[in-house]
Amino acid sequence: MRDPTTALNCRAVFATRTATPVVLDEKSWQLVKNNRCEELPAQILNDLHRMELLIDDDQDELGIVVRRNMAAIRSDDTFYTVIQTTDACQLGCGYCGQKHGRTQLSDDDQSRIVQRAANALATGTYKAMGVCWFGGEPLLGMPSIRKLSPLLQKLAAQANCRYQAKVITNGILLKQDVVEELLRLGVHEIEITLDGDREYHDKRRHNKAGAPSFDVIWRNFIRIAADADITCKLSIRCNVDRRNLQGVVPLVRRIADAGLASRVNFYTASVYEWGGRSTSADALHPDEYATAEKEWLTELYNLGFAVNWLPQKRPIVCLAVMPNAKLVDAHGRLFNCTETSYVPEYGTPNIYQLGSLSADESSQGNALSVFNDDVLARRFPCGDCRMLPVCGGACPKRWHEGTEPCPSTKRNIDWRLTAYFATTHLNS
Ligand code: SF4
Ligand code: SF4
Repeated sequence: MRDPTTALNCRAVFATRTATPVVLDEKSWQLVKNNRCEELPAQILNDLHRMELLIDDDQDELGIVVRRNMAAIRSDDTFYTVIQTTDACQLGCGYCGQKHGRTQLSDDDQSRIVQRAANALATGTYKAMGVCWFGGEPLLGMPSIRKLSPLLQKLAAQANCRYQAKVITNGILLKQDVVEELLRLGVHEIEITLDGDREYHDKRRHNKAGAPSFDVIWRNFIRIAADADITCKLSIRCNVDRRNLQGVVPLVRRIADAGLASRVNFYTASVYEWGGRSTSADALHPDEYATAEKEWLTELYNLGFAVNWLPQKRPIVCLAVMPNAKLVDAHGRLFNCTETSYVPEYGTPNIYQLGSLSADESSQGNALSVFNDDVLARRFPCGDCRMLPVCGGACPKRWHEGTEPCPSTKRNIDWRLTAYFATTHLNS
């Protein structure tokens, strides 16, 4: 992508504390760079202070950022629960850290989920209830979704709270009637995983006997995506490693050829070691991933997909740091991380388990919960990272397990900034 700032002799700059991009003329940039800001025109000086690109020397910058994150957590007004309706899944993806079974959420645990939500909403501190149906494959636990949704929706309505639900599914059971039912049950977002075009996806996301899954998922996807009455948000996640690196562009072209580029939110995620299961032979080095992502984002943009060139502020990194947000697995166990239940490598009892619904230990925390304190104490490199305000630290669990979780934006933010200005402001 051509860099417009070169021709215009100016600099694109990104203030991560406020997630604000700005273009500076070269003279102003040199003054900033050489610490001669007092010579800047007053308007520019004001703007740079407002976007927190310039700060006073005596500011405790890390303290301010982390305390803002902590304040955002305290004032978060959504009661959020991830519910694993079952530990079953039809697929046998080699990179999945979960051990699947046949457990379904029991009637007793469903009642406890409702009671736990009722207790939380009775405090009067929430304005919204958020649910994420997760698995295993959550649609294999459709009876729980069918039973719990109206009860949770009713509780939310009685407490004057908005209700929003998301489903993260492999897409195999996502028939039109199922989707219509999910919408009636308050689902506003459906996320499906496709790991590249057919030949790539089927080598990875096959069923437990090795049979392919792409065609059935694709048929389901295009049917619901093309249906004007199905208005929920549709996302496609593509997990990428060395084995399907070349499959991303053919997949996005297939989606665009189906006329669905503007309908779907497409994103990639790097496959990494999960639950002690080594994927290192196939995992992309973060530099390789960040480089490949430039091609994917350019292709997405050229094909008419919406592209988020720049990261947004991320004061709440994930549910691990939200005291009342929990994942409930199909055994009624409580966690504060979506990648810990059903993972045999985490032992019995699971080292990340916080308690269970029956023992009402839902307010318990663990080492992941105090991640922001750890960042403030500079126990992780995030304490000295310029990306912290737009990254949040990426993944408390991976830091605790000794792997660096830094997002690709840390490595390709310069290119992203150029692309942002090339495709937006300077084109208009
Ligand atoms: S996870 Fe990486 S990019 Fe994010 S704040 Fe920490 S060190 Fe920076
Ligand atoms: S700790 Fe990491 S894996 Fe767990 S929920 Fe947070 S971001 Fe996800």
